[in-house]
Amino acid sequence: MKECEICQALEFKAIIAQERMYGTGDIFKYMECSSCEALFLADIPADLSKYYPSNYYSFGPFNRSNALLALLKKLRYKAFSRGISFNSPVYYDWLSPLSLIPTSKIADIGCGNGQLLAEMAYSSFQQLDGYDPFVEEAFSSENFSIYKKDFFEIDQKYDLVMFHHSFEHLPNPVEVFEKLITILNPEGQVLIRVPVTNAQVWKEEHTYWFQLDAPRHLFIPNTKSMEILGDRFGLELFNTTFDSMDSQFWGTALYKKGKPLVGTNLEEIFSKKELESFSKKAKLYNKQKIGDQACFYFRKKTPSIPPSKFQ
Ligand SMILES: [Zn+2]
Repeated sequence: MKECEICQALEFKAIIAQERMYGTGDIFKYMECSSCEALFLADIPADLSKYYPSNYYSFGPFNRSNALLALLKKLRYKAFSRGISFNSPVYYDWLSPLSLIPTSKIADIGCGNGQLLAEMAYSSFQQLDGYDPFVEEAFSSENFSIYKKDFFEIDQKYDLVMFHHSFEHLPNPVEVFEKLITILNPEGQVLIRVPVTNAQVWKEEHTYWFQLDAPRHLFIPNTKSMEILGDRFGLELFNTTFDSMDSQFWGTALYKKGKPLVGTNLEEIFSKKELESFSKKAKLYNKQKIGDQACFYFRKKTPSIPPSKFQ
């Protein structure tokens, strides 16, 4: 790597990391940009599929709601959009900074089993597409479709493109943004939820950090990297919210103990009290903007209209 593809800085720090989720211990090298503080996996393995076995979490069982539950979900979202909130699922928070209507055309990149799209369909959204090259087969229902396609194969335009922890699994963030601006409608919006190197856990625990997740995370930005990417591609970063969770603490603690995530029972390792304190600490870190992941909200900048010559 000669220069940072995001900020063009020339200085990097090499970091040696291990695969820890499944405990294979395979070794990988990351390069950390000294300027925008993004991390890049050097020498991406040609075949990453061995690191996405069938028990990988995004392909867990799909939960369908019965008609009554579906109706309740519809009413709950209707109430939420009028400012009344009861038992709100977490994705309401992710959506709330966005301007959306039920007919907004929405894409979810790396949609896994499509659970989020199904939930959004229950909440009255009508034009929902998911993309995931790793799903078993394409799927289409009345309210949403899932395409077995790579992000770069998308040939439709959207009012909102969402990446819920999929951006860091794609190589070349600059190419992702290049493609992204071609699939956005005028005034199109982007939601990217991604781990960030602003994380205090990264600073303190380094390669034990749960969300370094070598080699599945090919790239991890800093808030600085995301600002630069938006600027370069005419996207206004209008909101950044930290939404990190307790996993940053228990996951990192597991890895320090040399235990893999898969096959480990958390309750056997941490007391209820410890787990509660992790949740509290995560909330505090989010307020302080030092949590280990964030939601970035971009919108297409509308070109300023030149003053008319005939005024
Ligand atoms: Zn950089």
